[in-house]
Amino acid sequence: MRTAPEYIDSLRQRNLRLFVDGELVRDPVSHPKVRPAINAVAATYELAHDPAYRELATAHSALSNIRVNRFCHLFEEPQDLIRKVELQRVLGRLTGTCFQRCVGMDGLNALFIATWEAGKDAHTRFVQWLRGVQHRDEVICGAMTDAKGDRRKRPAAQPDQFLRIVERRDGGVVLRGAKLHQTGAANSHQILVMPGMAMRPGEEEFVVAAAMPVDAPGITMVLGRQPSDGRKGGVDAGNAKYGGQEVVVLFDDVFVPGSRVFLDGELAPAATLVEAFAGYHRASYGGCKPGNLDVLIGASRLLARLHGVEQASHIRDKLVEMAHLTETVHGVGLAASARSHQHKAGPWQVDQILANVCKHNVTRIPYEIVRLAEDLAGGLVATMPSLADLQHPEFGEQLRRAVGGEERAKLLRLVEWMSYGAGAVPLRIECMHGAGSPQAQRIVLERNIDWETRVQHARRLAGLDNS
Ligand code: SF4
Ligand code: FE
Repeated sequence: MRTAPEYIDSLRQRNLRLFVDGELVRDPVSHPKVRPAINAVAATYELAHDPAYRELATAHSALSNIRVNRFCHLFEEPQDLIRKVELQRVLGRLTGTCFQRCVGMDGLNALFIATWEAGKDAHTRFVQWLRGVQHRDEVICGAMTDAKGDRRKRPAAQPDQFLRIVERRDGGVVLRGAKLHQTGAANSHQILVMPGMAMRPGEEEFVVAAAMPVDAPGITMVLGRQPSDGRKGGVDAGNAKYGGQEVVVLFDDVFVPGSRVFLDGELAPAATLVEAFAGYHRASYGGCKPGNLDVLIGASRLLARLHGVEQASHIRDKLVEMAHLTETVHGVGLAASARSHQHKAGPWQVDQILANVCKHNVTRIPYEIVRLAEDLAGGLVATMPSLADLQHPEFGEQLRRAVGGEERAKLLRLVEWMSYGAGAVPLRIECMHGAGSPQAQRIVLERNIDWETRVQHARRLAGLDNS
């Protein structure tokens, strides 16, 4: 398994076409807007070599018969699903942000199942590719979300809004289109494109699952902006080391050889893929988000201490509320993973209802916790001057007497970063829309809940069936 320095070095070997603020970035690894997100991915490699976390962060792969980083692993036994969520909480705490590697992991598992349903050839191609990923310990960018355009129109009516096969040649396919909100794409080794929604007969050209290097000819990446991203790498960064990343990936006639095309027009397996991925990833949020929230709770408690109000009953009550809500999210993520079942293909799958309840809670609960953190932080979270001002030779001392010292400033910056700075991208907006917007979970819940059994219980207790 790769070490963190080996991972970072491997990123330098790529010939990535990445644009940030309109400029082509020659060296993403040292770019101040990219490096914090690379550091967060690197933490997944560090943990795999940390004796305290090795058991959690790695697993023996029966598929390859080697020890692998958990982010390249299949959920081969029920416990793997639970360990995943526990590992995500540890990494969420360690980085305070999104460490980007879970979309690939959840995608690998979903595609293992989908290709098994698609047939022997597709599955063999996929397994062969996956073994290579495990051996090389790669970061896989799981690319699902299409632009989608006008939601009233199907893909055929607006083909540019969906990644699609535009040509078949030389034993492969040519892809054109875009994928949006690509978590950690610029920090990855390969892109695994997958359909983002179930398609209908006649829409086969939009059903493609395939893998390609991130620097394949025709791929252009454009980094998404984040609030306060101009402060990254500076003294007022908020999170001193880590950050998240979302990228728009443009595919301009990218050739993919047939050996790396795993789904090509198979409608039913593609629908399985979308559902399986959604379940896995909605439970994943029950790991990383509670880890991030732990950091916000810690910062809030420390600020309360600095303000001399840690023992005030209403402050303690708010901190308890923050912890209670955080454990609620984590508890459902664990429950979805514990109430698992095995797919005939081999991997274990989460409980769909609980996974969707988990993610649906995530569209609400972090917002309430951020509200409490802002309450506890006080107004200075929005008005604190820069550290450069606090250290100013002329007025710094007087300023520090007025607004507090560096410790308070840095904690307030962290709360600011997580509440409405760059860290709010994974902690708030991604909580809303990542792994599907809230309505997507309600649709799955409505479809999966056994309403009639509930009706029968009510009838029985109301005495309606005895008359
Ligand atoms: Fe992993 Fe969470 Fe980031 Fe998704 S949002 S990639 S689950 S850390
Ligand atoms: Fe996400």
